[in-house]
Amino acid sequence: MSGEEYPPKSQTKAEVRLAESLLPAAAPTAARWAVAVMELGALVCTARSPRCADCPVLDGCRWHRDGRPAHAGPPRRGQTYAGTDRQCRGRLLAVLRDAEGPVGKPALDVVWSDAVQRERALDALVADGLVDPLDDGRYALPG
Ligand code: SF4
Repeated sequence: MSGEEYPPKSQTKAEVRLAESLLPAAAPTAARWAVAVMELGALVCTARSPRCADCPVLDGCRWHRDGRPAHAGPPRRGQTYAGTDRQCRGRLLAVLRDAEGPVGKPALDVVWSDAVQRERALDALVADGLVDPLDDGRYALPG
């Protein structure tokens, strides 16, 4: 939102307010919005090589509008992503995104070997409203 190539990892209060002002008012629309934003960051607007030509929010992107200015701050330290809950959550969401409908638990279990971490990530996705646990034991994206 600041138009920087590598903005700080934490948001300012103004940025949080702006993000909240863009949220849809009613669930499950808000949950779908959250999934969409996460997918945008994972698949299109990646830190190393954003695919701006394919970006659905290109017209509203300040960094792109400003001519994609190069990072002018201190050198960035390598980001640890492998093995994190965030990576686990992304793997679980990818299964649901790629499926044509609800998926059974075994389809989620195979993408992350650490059962404790996998269950924690799945519980968090459900608690955040990003995954719907169905009555028949399967899981689906909200909507
Ligand atoms: S145009 Fe889209 S992909 Fe490119 S930097 Fe902006 S938000 Fe990211």
